[in-house]
Amino acid sequence: SVTIGVLALQGAFIEHQAILQKLNIKRALYVPLVRTVEDLEVCDGLIIPGGESTTIALLARLSGLLEPLREFVKTKPVWGTCAGAILLAHMAEGKKKGGQELLGGTSVKIARNGWGSQVESFAADLKIAGLRNANIPFKGVFIRAPVILDFSGTSSNDPPAQVLARLPSDLLPPSLTDSDHPDDPKTVVALRQGLHLVTTFHPELTEDSRFHEYFVKECLLPTIKHSGPTRVNGIN
Ligand code: GLN
Repeated sequence: SVTIGVLALQGAFIEHQAILQKLNIKRALYVPLVRTVEDLEVCDGLIIPGGESTTIALLARLSGLLEPLREFVKTKPVWGTCAGAILLAHMAEGKKKGGQELLGGTSVKIARNGWGSQVESFAADLKIAGLRNANIPFKGVFIRAPVILDFSGTSSNDPPAQVLARLPSDLLPPSLTDSDHPDDPKTVVALRQGLHLVTTFHPELTEDSRFHEYFVKECLLPTIKHSGPTRVNGIN
């Protein structure tokens, strides 16, 4: 079976677990809630939910999970939604003084609550590359969402980031003015980099399980294929 943990310190973790448990995929999925180092150790991959990134980071430190999580993201697939996306960033800007503890794992630089206080939350139909029935829009639910400022990375060793979805530029709030540029990173709301997936919205707050299916099939399963018989020189 495949074990995909949901970090359950704070935020919308139950919703992620519920969607994963209903997924129709060929492998048996075990979906534990992760609150301790022991819980994390058995996971093949992890989802970090939306919530409050500073609270999640603080609780991770208090439960001794911060360093184990930083190690985990180096070798295993992790999907961060909203607050989880902030934690996967290597740098975050926000109102909180004294900075914020992050896990890193991607070359994303992100702004917490980047839509500004006048845009608390909104929903937008997104076209997402790679999803099943990709021509059917995916409803992106944005709640005090972060804005991706940059994902070009700091070192040439960073794996390339692949943009999965952009917000239509007419939906960008006026506070983000320099966004008529078609390649503006601020319009990017979903991307994949290396093993990881970053979404600034909340697929767990919709009935649509296609993004969860994508994470399991595209990011997670390829990392554990090797558990079967090994092929040597093309001979089984
Ligand atoms: N604004 C939150 C943060 O900074 C994220 C909001 C969310 O996850 N819905 O962590």
